[in-house]
Amino acid sequence: MLTRRSLLAAGVASLAAPARAQVVTTLGSEAERVTILSDGGFEMPLSTLARDMPAAEIVAQAGPSDPFRTPVNVTCLRRGSEVILFDCGAGAHFLPGTGQLAASLGAAGIDPEAVTHVLFTHLHPDHFWGALDDFDSPLFPNARWLAAAPEIDFWTGNKVYERLPADRHAFAAGAHRIAKGLGEKLERMAAASEWLPGIAAVETAGHTPGHVSFAFRSAGQEVMVLGDALTHPRISFAHPEWRPASDHDAERAVATRRSLLDRLHQERVLAIGYHLPGAAGRVERDAAAYRFVPA
Ligand SMILES: [Zn+2]
Repeated sequence: MLTRRSLLAAGVASLAAPARAQVVTTLGSEAERVTILSDGGFEMPLSTLARDMPAAEIVAQAGPSDPFRTPVNVTCLRRGSEVILFDCGAGAHFLPGTGQLAASLGAAGIDPEAVTHVLFTHLHPDHFWGALDDFDSPLFPNARWLAAAPEIDFWTGNKVYERLPADRHAFAAGAHRIAKGLGEKLERMAAASEWLPGIAAVETAGHTPGHVSFAFRSAGQEVMVLGDALTHPRISFAHPEWRPASDHDAERAVATRRSLLDRLHQERVLAIGYHLPGAAGRVERDAAAYRFVPA
């Protein structure tokens, strides 16, 4: 059963400030317009940034604000007749402060009925629970809903409760509810393959077992929608080896971050992070450490 207490136990606190719908930023060209929409934000304790670092070291690297605020950024790509969303926010049942996507779509002038595809990076609450409206119907009546088969199998399989700590059982219950609500509309995709013409899923597992990111070109540049492969604007870049509490498989998530940072830096990719302030930016490197430079 999902309760406020179980969410707090999972390290997720509510946002004190009122939620705000907004368009975070717009990129690309007229033909391939990328609009980043806010689903609001929430607060996380600093201690969740690393399982095994002293508190003083976390404060020194991440800043003193504890809890810190994390934004929730939903990417929308419009090209031709397609309106493609990457994840769909937290919906009404996660936390106060989130669930602003529908209002942000309105602010951007995007009609929910026009959404043609929703591509999921993973099935955590803040990415997946926004798929259903208040009546448990799909929020976008005309959309195809695509997720990686290993991710669907993990969250909807009957072993999920054995594979999760008790304080994450609410995440599984929620994923079951949303997957049931989408029913056969939820399509199973291979983790590393082209899901739509020109849009490739890149395996970035670790944060969750079937986590993927998405690579495509827009206005002549390579773009990658990261999901939660890189979540914190300083720690994920300067300390990819730290082990955040929210990663299911900590070692795999470290390996994923390292290879992703190399690729983003070497190929000058425009990176879009679901939880990165400002959402879009470049990965630069000073001496041994990477850093995120907002676009
Ligand atoms: Zn997330």
